[in-house]
Amino acid sequence: MKELMKRISVYGDIEYNRSFADCTTLRIGGNCEIMIYPFNVAGAIAILDILHGSDLPVRVIGNGSNLLVSDANYHGVVICLNKYVNQYELDGTVLTVGAGASIIAMSYAMAKKGLSGFEFAAGIPGTIGGAIYMNAGAYKHDISEIVNSVLVYDGNGAHWLTQKQCAFGYRQSIFQAHSDWVILQAKFDLNAGDADKILALLDDRRLRRFNSQPLDFPSAGSVFRNPGDMLAWQAIEAVGLRGKRIGDAMVSEKHCNFIVNVGHAKASDFYELVQLIQREVKSKLDIDLIMEVERFNW
Ligand SMILES: Cc1cc2nc3c(=O)[nH]c(=O)nc-3n(C[C@H](O)[C@H](O)[C@H](O)COP(=O)(O)OP(=O)(O)OC[C@H]3O[C@@H](n4cnc5c(N)ncnc54)[C@H](O)[C@@H]3O)c2cc1C
Repeated sequence: MKELMKRISVYGDIEYNRSFADCTTLRIGGNCEIMIYPFNVAGAIAILDILHGSDLPVRVIGNGSNLLVSDANYHGVVICLNKYVNQYELDGTVLTVGAGASIIAMSYAMAKKGLSGFEFAAGIPGTIGGAIYMNAGAYKHDISEIVNSVLVYDGNGAHWLTQKQCAFGYRQSIFQAHSDWVILQAKFDLNAGDADKILALLDDRRLRRFNSQPLDFPSAGSVFRNPGDMLAWQAIEAVGLRGKRIGDAMVSEKHCNFIVNVGHAKASDFYELVQLIQREVKSKLDIDLIMEVERFNW
């Protein structure tokens, strides 16, 4: 192990026993045995090649904004791209960007250059990689609409996938069926637009989120997918669970499709609350609520 980490340290920073509570927006989770921050895309490929030959479990995370990490310690390696793999390059209206870049930062950077396409990202605290994995979106748009191609490491080196090969659907992509793949970089096709108008739209959306979401508490955003006829928050409200609390995990009073961490919530508190909501909504409304937040290391 020592020799392996010595080889890896040439290509990235290594941290041991890092708490997931410090790497997720929910501020919940046990420790990660080994967390690696590659210095760049080439370094990430070198690290993944080295790890591929070992028997260590390897996962990748972005900003941890869609994760409920268990209270147990994770024995393995987590690759984290948001520290260094976040550079971008523009060629006309084509953007090439590292998978660790923040989509909020990109939305503002592109707006200032008068490039349209990332407006959906206003207020979504994820990375490019996490957003592609989830096909994140809002305001009736999602990231798949601007993806041109994605550079992915699949165990046999890094390859570019076309937008079509990413098999995007509502909050879905091919990457969810391949948890060992690592998105390294992506190209996006943007459109020329008016910088002032795009910036005004981003600011307006940010303000709307501030007014409607409990952004003063740690959360992982909307907990459940909207089930169809009804919005998830309406179903939770209808069964009387607004404000329901288990330990320090609480259904937000402000937006009841958010479960917030009001102190030192455990993953088990959060998940107990999720299951309580699912049971109540099923028995009283006959609706199956499906989690949008992903459980990690359960
Ligand atoms: C306040 C708040 C508001 C939110 N609003 C929205 C919203 O409006 N719309 C929406 O869609 N989401 C929303 N989210 C959820 C979340 O921000 C998005 O799903 C985001 O895309 C997750 O990105 P991430 O980098 O944080 O991924 P993480 O949470 O770190 O990871 C999520 C999944 O992606 C995988 N992954 C991450 N990076 C890579 C990579 N480089 N290669 C391969 N797989 C990778 C991880 O392994 C994991 O399975 C919100 C969250 C919060 C906290």
